[in-house]
Amino acid sequence: MTDSAALATTAYQAMLTLVGQTEPRIAEAIKAELHDQRHSLKLIASENYASLTTLLGLGTWLSDKYAEGTIGHRFYAGCQNIDTVESVAAEHARELFGAEYAYAQPHSGIDANLVAYWAILSHLVERPALEKYHAKTVNDLDQADWDELRYALGNQRLMGMSLDAGGHLTHGFRHNISGKMFDQRSYGTDPVTGLLDYDALRKQAKEFKPAILVGGYSAYPRRINFAIMREIADEVGAVLMVDMAHFAGLVAGKVFTGDENPVPFAQIVTTTTHKSLRGPRGGMVLATKEFADDVDRGCPMVLGGPLGNMMAGKAVALAEARQPSFQDYAQQIADNAKALAEGLLKRGATLVTGGTDNHIVLLDVASSFGLTGRQAEGALIDSGVVTNRNSIPRDPNGAWYTSGIRLGTPALTSRGFTTSDMDVVAGLIADALAATKPVMTSAGAPGKAKYTIADGVAERTQAAADELLGNHPLYPGLEL
Ligand SMILES: *Cc1c(COP(=O)(O)O)cnc(C)c1O
Repeated sequence: MTDSAALATTAYQAMLTLVGQTEPRIAEAIKAELHDQRHSLKLIASENYASLTTLLGLGTWLSDKYAEGTIGHRFYAGCQNIDTVESVAAEHARELFGAEYAYAQPHSGIDANLVAYWAILSHLVERPALEKYHAKTVNDLDQADWDELRYALGNQRLMGMSLDAGGHLTHGFRHNISGKMFDQRSYGTDPVTGLLDYDALRKQAKEFKPAILVGGYSAYPRRINFAIMREIADEVGAVLMVDMAHFAGLVAGKVFTGDENPVPFAQIVTTTTHKSLRGPRGGMVLATKEFADDVDRGCPMVLGGPLGNMMAGKAVALAEARQPSFQDYAQQIADNAKALAEGLLKRGATLVTGGTDNHIVLLDVASSFGLTGRQAEGALIDSGVVTNRNSIPRDPNGAWYTSGIRLGTPALTSRGFTTSDMDVVAGLIADALAATKPVMTSAGAPGKAKYTIADGVAERTQAAADELLGNHPLYPGLEL
C-alpha cells in the first residue's frame, strides 16, 4: 500500500464513522457507491474517477463561506481564503489552457454555458441603438422595430450542433433555455460520412447570420477544426463559443493541439471539470480579455454563490492536469478509444463516422445487432458493462429509444486499461449484444424496450469484466 492510499484509508474511515453516527444510510450509500464503481466496466463517456486527493479536498469548511462576487470584490466580508482558492484555480486554468482569462465559479457545465451566453449578449448590446426605444411601450413597436431591437441585442441568434449529430441540450435544444432565449438553428453532419461538413456549415451560417456560433459536442466521435470554425464565425460576424465539456482533458493533455485546440480560436470556451479533465463536478469559463468583465458578472447574474470547496477541488485537479503524466493519460484515452473502435469493427459492428479520433465511440446497435439503444443499454448493464444509449444522426428510433450506444474511454483509462484490454472489452460488448434479441410485440414486430439474452451470456460477460477490473483496481490500497 502506498503512503497516500494509507492516508486516504484513514481519512475515509474517520469520515464514514462520523457520518454513520448521524445518518447510517448515507455512510452505507457512500460505501456502496465505491463498491459499484469498482465492480462495473464504466464506459460512460462523460464520467471519470477523480483522484483521492481531489476528492478529499472537497469536504471542508470552505463550503461554509458565502462569497458572491469576484476575487477581491465580494458582497460578503471575510472572503480572503476563498479569494486565494479561486485565484489559484483560475491561475492553473489559464496556465494549463493558455487562456487570457479563466472563471472558476460555475457549478456545472450548463451553468458555465449560461454565464457565457449572457456575457456574449451583454458584450454585443449596442446601447445607443436602444435609447430611442426608451420612451416607447411594447405596443408602439412594429415588426421592423423588433428586428432592429433583436440586432441591437446581439440579434439573439444561435447556431449549434444538433442533438442527434452529437450536440448538447444547451446548444439551442428546445427543452433547454438556450432554445427559448435564442432564435436558434442547428447544424448537422454529412448524411454519408457522418462528419461535420464545414462547407455546409459555412453556407448555413451565411444564410442565418448567428450572433453566436457554438462548437463542441457530447456525442460526436471526431475532432473539430476550430481554425475553420473561427473563420466561419468571422465571416458572418458571430462570436465563436466552444463548449469543450467532453474533451477538455484531451486539450489539457495536449492531444488536441494546433487547429484542434479551441482556446486560441474561440473568444469564449466553456467546460465541465469532471469529464475527461478528471476533476470534481463543476464548470469553468475561459475567455479572451475582451470578454473577461462580462464573464465576471456570472455571479450573481446567473449563478448562486460560488462553492469554495468545489473551487478548491478544481484547483487541485487542474494542478494534477499540469503534471506531465496527465499528457500520457490523455494520449492513452485516445489510443484506447481507437482500440475499442477497431475491436468492434473487426467483429462486424457499425460505428457512426466509421471510427473515432477522440475519446468517444458511437456504436450503431440498430444496424449492427437489430436492437434499440435502450435494449442494448439494458443488456450491457445486465452483463456488467455500463454505457448509455444515445441518438445517432437522423435516428429512426427517436431520442428516447435511440439506435446508438455511446462509449467513452476516460474512466477505464484512469484505472490503467490499455489498448489490449480495450480489445477484450470490445469482444465482451459484441458477444453480449449478439446474444441479445428484441422481444416481439403482440403484432409480431420487434419491440423497442424489452429484450432477452441467451442463457449464461450475461453471467459469462460479467465474470470476464470482473477479471479485467481485478487487473486494474480502482483506488488501489484504499480499504474501507
Ligand atoms: C456534459 C455537458 C454539459 C453539461 O454539464 P453539466 O455539468 O451536467 O451541467 C454541457 N455541455 C456539454 C457539451 C456537455 O457534454
